[in-house]
Amino acid sequence: MEIYGDQVGRLIEELSGLPGVGGKTAQRLAFHIINMPEERAESLASAIVDARKNIRYCKSCYTITDRELCPICASAKRDRKTIMVVETPRDLAAYERTGRFTGVYHVLHGVINPALGIGVGDIRLKELIERLSREDVEELIIATNSSVEGEATAMYISKLVKPSGIKTSRIASGVPVGGDLECIDEVTLLRALEGRVEL
Ligand code: ZN
Repeated sequence: MEIYGDQVGRLIEELSGLPGVGGKTAQRLAFHIINMPEERAESLASAIVDARKNIRYCKSCYTITDRELCPICASAKRDRKTIMVVETPRDLAAYERTGRFTGVYHVLHGVINPALGIGVGDIRLKELIERLSREDVEELIIATNSSVEGEATAMYISKLVKPSGIKTSRIASGVPVGGDLECIDEVTLLRALEGRVEL
């Protein structure tokens, strides 16, 4: 990006390293940023730095947050006896957007995937089991994606939890196979949740 000089070139380069941002989009974003009032550009930059610096995992559900307990776990309105197990914080956000789930979550941060070398110890499963032994939980809804790995992980968790007597259920298979939960509309998610089957 020699044509724009070093600083604009660097901005374009940084932006084009973001997922889904190609060279053209990076240029468009860079020019948008350059033309912003200086305070807005500063606010954008500090939002990025602050979020990155203060990010941590909720000590209860392991979603990403900037507090010890995320707002969902900290809320008195949520039913702590129902835990929905999801793969990522983005899946959690997708279920939250339905506005109908009143329980709490547990974020695994992935699924077991032997082909990629992701084993039981690489996801937040031990934390889930510890949590179940510590808290009074009635139902565990396993909402991993319907990919082969998501299904296998769901079965694994269900077998692990079974002896505890906690009811485990799986979201209905209305969710497209291999579908990224994040990309699925709220109605489909709600149907999957309401049509869940006991394992
Ligand atoms: Zn939490």
